[in-house]
Amino acid sequence: MSRSDSLPVIGSPRAAGSDQLPHVLDHAADLEGFLAAAGQPAWRAGAIRRWLHGRRAGSFAAMTDLPRDLREHLTAAFRIWTTTIAARQQAPDGTEKLLLELADGERIECVLLRDGERRTVCISSQVGCGMGCVFCASGLDGVIRNLSSGEIVEQLLRLAALLPAEERLSHVVVMGMGEPLANLDRLLPALDVARDAEGLGISPRRITISTVGLPPAIDRLAASGAGYNLAVSLHAAADDLRTRLVPVNKTIGLEAVMAAADRYWEASGRRLTFEYVLLGGVNDTRDDAGRLAELLGGRAALLNVIPYNRVAGMPWQEPSRRAVAEFLGVLERAGVNVQVRRRKGAEIDAACGQLRRLAARDHDA
Ligand code: SF4
Repeated sequence: MSRSDSLPVIGSPRAAGSDQLPHVLDHAADLEGFLAAAGQPAWRAGAIRRWLHGRRAGSFAAMTDLPRDLREHLTAAFRIWTTTIAARQQAPDGTEKLLLELADGERIECVLLRDGERRTVCISSQVGCGMGCVFCASGLDGVIRNLSSGEIVEQLLRLAALLPAEERLSHVVVMGMGEPLANLDRLLPALDVARDAEGLGISPRRITISTVGLPPAIDRLAASGAGYNLAVSLHAAADDLRTRLVPVNKTIGLEAVMAAADRYWEASGRRLTFEYVLLGGVNDTRDDAGRLAELLGGRAALLNVIPYNRVAGMPWQEPSRRAVAEFLGVLERAGVNVQVRRRKGAEIDAACGQLRRLAARDHDA
């Protein structure tokens, strides 16, 4: 084993690939222990974390207000990055996507979206996804493994590093590859870093977790008291169609999903968002819209309708302009608070999972 192989990692797993990985908070504790053993005051742990998370230091050498011998000591004992940037794409609208290679060779995607003053990042929570949504490239090969807390944090830091020094990340959506609530134990410590004043300092109100709706995990998220926004992906308002599009629905059912969403709203006070990908000729009729209006009736919720973007190699079609207009019309007349969300960065395969699959195909070719 080389010297660098034996180094512990800040914010990342000690041994990539294991599902029993310590969390980023464990590493913070390691750092404090390391400082104590080195005869350094504990408050330097906070200073190091501020350098890592807020001041975007890419190396210990850059932490210029730390004593030189401590910087050398840290460099010899820890490494900061466990990912490498395998590909980077930029769209004309400013959207940037990174394909990150993890220490075990797996790959994940994360995206930076620029919209006015907003700097939103969309991050992944798993390698692959076990939910099997039929229109999603991320789920085609199932779930390979959970990301560690550190690997989730590292996406935030990699994307923040794309910004000029005077800009900060303002919003986080956990809507990339994976089902976030299937990896809640690792996601929550990572989001602690995102919202912590010594971390990235992003308000929980600007952090959104997207889920297909796993009721026990929604309840755990509510019990955490963190107050994140919850976005529930519906894609259909009747169980038979939803089970076709989101197979995990078979064992859960819409009624249980909606009841869990309501409990989250009651516990957190956060307005619910529902997502509905509109697939041409599949779930885009006026009847579908009517059922959806009925399902959402009476809830103080926002509905995001996302017209599907055609993906090469997938059989699904974009909805026609007319179908989108009629679908929205039915919902609006029923009093549903609805907006159309177009995918930004369509030019760079910004829909989750596409870049990873393209890169794998090129790699295999
Ligand atoms: S849409 Fe989300 S939950 Fe569904 S398979 Fe893709 S990554 Fe998983």
